[in-house]
Amino acid sequence: MNTSPARTALRESLDVERLRRDFPILHQTVYDGKPLAYLDNAATSQKPKAVIEALTEYYTRYNANVHRALHYLGEQATARYEEARGKVAAFIGAPGVANIVFTRGTTESINLVAYAWGRTHVGQGDVILATGMEHHSNLVPWQILAKEKGAELKLVPVLEDGTLDQAAFASLLSSRVKLVAVTQMSNVLGTVNPVQAMAEAAHGVGAKILVDAAQSVPHMPVNVQELNADFLAFSSHKMCGPTGVGVLYAREEIFNAMPPFMGGGEMISKVHDDHATWADLPYKFEAGTPNIADVIAFGAAVDYLSAIGMDPIHAYEQALTAYTVERLEEIPHVRIFGRAPERGGAVSFEVEGIHPHDLSQYVDQQGVAIRAGHLCAQPLMRRLGVPAVSRASVYFYNVEREIEQLAEAIRKAQHFFGHG
Ligand code: PLP
Repeated sequence: MNTSPARTALRESLDVERLRRDFPILHQTVYDGKPLAYLDNAATSQKPKAVIEALTEYYTRYNANVHRALHYLGEQATARYEEARGKVAAFIGAPGVANIVFTRGTTESINLVAYAWGRTHVGQGDVILATGMEHHSNLVPWQILAKEKGAELKLVPVLEDGTLDQAAFASLLSSRVKLVAVTQMSNVLGTVNPVQAMAEAAHGVGAKILVDAAQSVPHMPVNVQELNADFLAFSSHKMCGPTGVGVLYAREEIFNAMPPFMGGGEMISKVHDDHATWADLPYKFEAGTPNIADVIAFGAAVDYLSAIGMDPIHAYEQALTAYTVERLEEIPHVRIFGRAPERGGAVSFEVEGIHPHDLSQYVDQQGVAIRAGHLCAQPLMRRLGVPAVSRASVYFYNVEREIEQLAEAIRKAQHFFGHG
């Protein structure tokens, strides 16, 4: 029997078998009776019953538009929608609800910053500093902005071990830098970046920092005030909530100094024939009818995670990730990308001689859902010297036997494809 430190740590942490019962989707077999092992959590997470029920409850009991309805259902919907905002604010340690804008997801949150803040605060000759490990959603908006404004976009290089080159970061910082855009946890390498220190350095040259927290907020305790983040973006669907909801956190004075992103209903104070004034925060940035049901169900997801606790979730995932790395490393001809000392549960790898798409299709037939491709990080793929990778990514409801199922499926694939 395996008695590795990773396995011992797992045994001592969460009661995962109990938690798994909250997720109906996990308990099924696929194809010809293979138990499902869902290891594609960095793409999207599964939803517990409490979240699914919150959606049903909204549509069966109090569906109504928010903020303007002067009737019972409208008041119920508004109260629950705003409660969700309060839960999110508390979850990330924001000073208040004025700091929390609901969007469609991380991508929209970052684009909101690029359009509303970027267009007014970035100009000719300025520098936007991103990194070589950003997801396209924290890179392409800056490319568009830089081109439009005649600004320069520079990338902090990624070192061999999958960490950011902090010396290069320090040397790239100057008074021309207006924004540092960095992921807190890489969706490819798993690397957790030292964003708190990077925020301090960015602030030292008068730049703002935007933290892409799409992979961090779901998996570890995150406190925006401790990080000293100016902007922080994440998505509900990666943290047990529904799709179609995201969050943009910003410091209040920054939100106040930004023009609106979209114009329309809800975001105004007074509208005249030829001009309008804006609503208070956060409504200034929420034009039109929001995604009411999904925001409320996102509130249920935040409750669910909070009840378990982000510290135990993080501890369990650390152990399960270590276990995953151990199991994969035992397989000949498997290479793992990223060796950062501080890392999360996205484990990318290649199996020599088998294309990642073929591998993921093969292991899928064995009931194991992993991801393959460029993972929306083409510049990083180029840096790694591969067109694509395979990625297994865990969440707190995953268990060792699913990792073993993955390892077994990879060995079978090697046999099937005649490699290894
Ligand atoms: N940033 C990172 C690090 C991600 O992993 C993802 C999604 O995979 C995103 C941003 C984009 O999130 P969404 O598609 O929910 O907008």
